[in-house]
Amino acid sequence: MIRITDILDKIYEYNPDADLSIIDRAYIYSARVHEGQVRLSGEPYLSHPLEVADILADMTLDVESIAAALLHDVIEDTPATKEDIEKMFGPGVAHIVEGVTKLSSLPMAKTSSTKIAQQAESLRKMILAMADDIRVVLIKLADRIHNMRTLKYHRTPEKQASIAQETLDIYAPIAARLGIFWIKHELEEIAFYYTLRDEYERIESLVNTAKDKKEDYIKEVKTSLQYKMEEMELPCDIKGRYKQHYSIYQKMLSQSLEFEEVYDIIAFRLILDTVPQCYAAMGAIHSMWKPIYYKIKDYIGNPKPNMYQSIHTTVVGPKGERVEIQIRTRDMDQIAESGIAAHWSYKEGSKIDENTGELFAWIRNLVENQENYNDPDEFLENVRIDLYPDEIYVFTPHGEIKTLPKKATPVDFAYMIHTEVGAACTGAKVSGKLVPLTHRLKTGDTIEIITTKGHHPSADWLNFVKTVKARTKIRAYINAREKERSYSLGREMCEKIFRKKNQNFNALVKSGEIRAVSESYGFKTVDDLIAHVGFGKLTPLQILNKILPDLERDPKEEKESFFQKIASRSKRKTDTGIVVKGLHDILVRFSKCCNPLPGDPITGYITQGQGVTIHSKNCINVMKMSNERKIEVQWSEDFTESYPASIRIKTDDRHGLLADIAAVISKSKCNILNAQSETSEAGIGSFYFTVMVESSAQLRKIMSEIRRVKKVTDVKRVVRNN
Ligand code: MN
Repeated sequence: MIRITDILDKIYEYNPDADLSIIDRAYIYSARVHEGQVRLSGEPYLSHPLEVADILADMTLDVESIAAALLHDVIEDTPATKEDIEKMFGPGVAHIVEGVTKLSSLPMAKTSSTKIAQQAESLRKMILAMADDIRVVLIKLADRIHNMRTLKYHRTPEKQASIAQETLDIYAPIAARLGIFWIKHELEEIAFYYTLRDEYERIESLVNTAKDKKEDYIKEVKTSLQYKMEEMELPCDIKGRYKQHYSIYQKMLSQSLEFEEVYDIIAFRLILDTVPQCYAAMGAIHSMWKPIYYKIKDYIGNPKPNMYQSIHTTVVGPKGERVEIQIRTRDMDQIAESGIAAHWSYKEGSKIDENTGELFAWIRNLVENQENYNDPDEFLENVRIDLYPDEIYVFTPHGEIKTLPKKATPVDFAYMIHTEVGAACTGAKVSGKLVPLTHRLKTGDTIEIITTKGHHPSADWLNFVKTVKARTKIRAYINAREKERSYSLGREMCEKIFRKKNQNFNALVKSGEIRAVSESYGFKTVDDLIAHVGFGKLTPLQILNKILPDLERDPKEEKESFFQKIASRSKRKTDTGIVVKGLHDILVRFSKCCNPLPGDPITGYITQGQGVTIHSKNCINVMKMSNERKIEVQWSEDFTESYPASIRIKTDDRHGLLADIAAVISKSKCNILNAQSETSEAGIGSFYFTVMVESSAQLRKIMSEIRRVKKVTDVKRVVRNN
């Protein structure tokens, strides 16, 4: 167990004037109230606050933060109250501890739909806490690091995986947005191991194999760089290091690359003393190796919003291979690791510089916007977009600079100027030339928006806009319009059914009887209830039966119900293996875009007149859909049917391999629907199989068996492209 004296020594070193007595007292108090408690590791509980305090001391934080770190769990886990803390340690420490406690009281969700709501709530709380006192979040991040480092003591793999997933969803992006990269990297690396152990281990072994081959290469590049820098009289440190497993994995995933195709698993970094030296070093490197011009990024001149500064360049190296090089000063290097924490050190009253100010503007902006989201999905999706800080810088015709996310379009720019400009936007000129609204803007572009009076946002825009603001505003417009339409459709449907039973729907609305039904379904207003009938989430017959349960049911007429009608109109599969919550006898079909299998998380999407379409929860198309029309669906438990699934198998070409793979598949008693093969110039063969399986678990089993076939290098599930 780490000792308090080690922590005190550390603080004394960076802050000799610190009042260490408050830390001493916090330690003694924490030890007393946590007495007798143990961690899952079997260690005394006190080891946890000590480790958290130590992490914060490494970040050179102020005395209040470190005292609060020692006390961060006492309100939650011991009889101590905020008032106790305040009396003993003052309002500053008490305020931080209370903030951390508020963040801890988040229950872990069980089902996937409540999980999204809970995740959004966690993020919202984190953002509010940041706006209040950033130190609360720094403690929370340190707390998470120690909990991740000791995750192995959790008993079940399920619990480990769910904590790790939460870390990837919430804590790592927050750390990245705050520019604290060492935390982001450590969290991601551990979480990767616990969420995707197979993938982690695969990449680890690939990296280790590559290491043997690459050692000489690293030495060669390093030596060449060293000679050049000496020749130019630019004193510098040169580091060559392997990228993290998780970054490599992300790159493979996002660009569908094989490991061999990820050329920059090694990153070189040059650390110099001054900014002019950095630019001189870049010039020297470019004179030695040819740069790839579109890969040159000057984040020294244009710092990232999370304060990151560095020059990035990619050159064609000595063996014709691409080499990625980062160039920066020592200060920049430190900020690149510690981000906002570097600006929040022990120095009291230290002025918040421009970059830090911008970071806070981001947080403020999110806080101000959060009231606009009533749907957790939407909030989460939007915050996620904001949490990935790949941004571009563009200009208004007046030369004002605006920051937009990468791949933003003129529509995003228009909404950024003003909501009304966005809504009425019909065209755009980039640097004087007309471009389509889908045009991807680049850093340096000057944009002029063309508007037409009375023009309205279009749903298509959701397919390409990138900013939170554009997305929220467009969706709000579409939702309002859809609701209007659904309301009149729903009203019509209700009136018709009620009339058939000699009832007057509108009179029942007036007399308040419909209101009672509406309340029993949990709707705020009768209009909401009617709109839901129009959306197809509720049938008019359900309302009628609620009001007049004794009404004799005519089986023939029941068939006349809305969904029955649409169901009989289309070719209807009697059973699809899907349960739609709250609806029976509804037409269900599978989307062509994502091919979900039993066991995959799924969601339903209601289409007027066409029933429910089933998509995989991760399907990119689902992300773009209106939440109003999403409906909870489940795989039926006692239903077995086979569904098509496609896999791609990569091999070192070998004769007879096709037969071996086919044998493995048929041994697992599933049918092959289709098989194709192709061989690349490099002699790497790819096979595509479409097989009929009963569940994603069965597919995974087959895939792992195929992986064992000699010469098979990779097996991947792919979306069918027919
Ligand atoms: Mn804790």
